[in-house]
Amino acid sequence: MNKRELFAMLPSVDEVLGDKRIIELQHEYPRSLVLDSIREIIDLKRKNIVSLKEDDMSGFSVKLDEIIEGAIERVRINYSLSLKKVINGTGIVIHTNLGRSLLSESIKDELWDAASRYSNLEYDIENGERGSRYSHLTKIIKKLTGAEDVLVVNNNAAAVLLVLSTMAKDKEAIVSRGELVEVGGSFRIPSIMALSGANLVEIGATNKTHLKDYEEAISEETGVLMKVHTSNYRILGFTKSVEIEELVQLGKKYNLPVIEDLGSGVFVDVSKYGLSYEPTVLDSIKQGADIVTFSGDKMLGGPQAGIIVGKKEYIQKMKKNQLTRALRVDKLTICALEATLRLYLDENKAIENIPTLRMLTYTEEQLNQKANTLYEKIRELNLEASLSIEDGISQVGGGSMPLETISSKVIAITPDNMNVSLLEKKLRLSDSHIIARIYDNKYVLDVRTIFEDEFDIIVKELKSAFN
Ligand SMILES: *Cc1c(COP(=O)(O)O)cnc(C)c1O
Repeated sequence: MNKRELFAMLPSVDEVLGDKRIIELQHEYPRSLVLDSIREIIDLKRKNIVSLKEDDMSGFSVKLDEIIEGAIERVRINYSLSLKKVINGTGIVIHTNLGRSLLSESIKDELWDAASRYSNLEYDIENGERGSRYSHLTKIIKKLTGAEDVLVVNNNAAAVLLVLSTMAKDKEAIVSRGELVEVGGSFRIPSIMALSGANLVEIGATNKTHLKDYEEAISEETGVLMKVHTSNYRILGFTKSVEIEELVQLGKKYNLPVIEDLGSGVFVDVSKYGLSYEPTVLDSIKQGADIVTFSGDKMLGGPQAGIIVGKKEYIQKMKKNQLTRALRVDKLTICALEATLRLYLDENKAIENIPTLRMLTYTEEQLNQKANTLYEKIRELNLEASLSIEDGISQVGGGSMPLETISSKVIAITPDNMNVSLLEKKLRLSDSHIIARIYDNKYVLDVRTIFEDEFDIIVKELKSAFN
């Protein structure tokens, strides 16, 4: 058969549309989507014919059935949401590319109620009048942090922007050169400062900043002293930075507010659970910071949000800033955050129920158990591959604790007759989208970030990847 004959065998769109299966498909999916998908499949086939070499011509055929089945599959794929579930086998707990923190299963009913029913979002039920959306979070955050007042915005970048725009617009903000962080996605502290209208005054050297550097930079123009937690990098060796307590003393002396961007911000002292100390919000407030900002979806384990806590006089001013309206949080965030924070009233409950905390604090025994269970399930498949449980290293992620290496357990798979990168690709592109790493020619699944109810799915996808 030559190419002209093959082209002639391609069905028309109408021909495919007439098939019973395709007619049925249109009860479930929009007609325009079915049409697009049929065109896509026929086009693909046409392109295949165009690129056919003389030698391959004989083995090639055009079958109506194949095109119909392809179209049905295509419709299903085209209709699925672009944002979809994946399995995180990387061991990076707060994986920014994979959605950062996960919400607790225990809050799902309340979240769905807030999403699908009317609520008192901005309504004061007691007095039957207009209320404030921010009121729902005030009480609990004040209780957990000891702060005078609270404001929650879209994310921590927005929080920093709002704080500086309110407190240091057209004034100078003094920051140590060693703390001019770039967070992922090219968010840079200096750029946010510029946007806010504050003038950045960099002080100190990259590795060392002393209290006197701050003091010498203070002038008539100074609006705030600012400290930024270098969440995603560390300067090691010959270093010096100024602690928040000293900065607060200096602020008092010159009557200047001190703001601290904590980045991750935790409510629990995670050093109790074998991680390095990460400054808690409570500590910063206790040490006298006037304003503290942090993310909702880093180590706090809640929804994306930027939380601002501190002195009432400043927070009241922020609430009146027009930017607040542009940066405001929606009701789903408020609900998810309030419900997550409520878990913190009992620390054990927080560790147990908030996935980010639970995954970061697994004991060795829990990890071994997870690894053994998954290993046994995979072993029963008798794959043509070598399979083992090995020591691995998980990461906190989300630009938090960059030097922290948390020992973990991984399942390592090396196929006998398949390139390991092909295995990785097959599993990534499978319906379950398993995301994992290749290390030392092994496909490596870190059990820390894999849910136990995902084990059987992994087994199923492995089985078809090897077939
Ligand atoms: C992560 C981070 C931010 C940005 O927080 P988002 O919630 O991602 O907007 C700002 N400052 C520091 C120090 C951070 O670590």
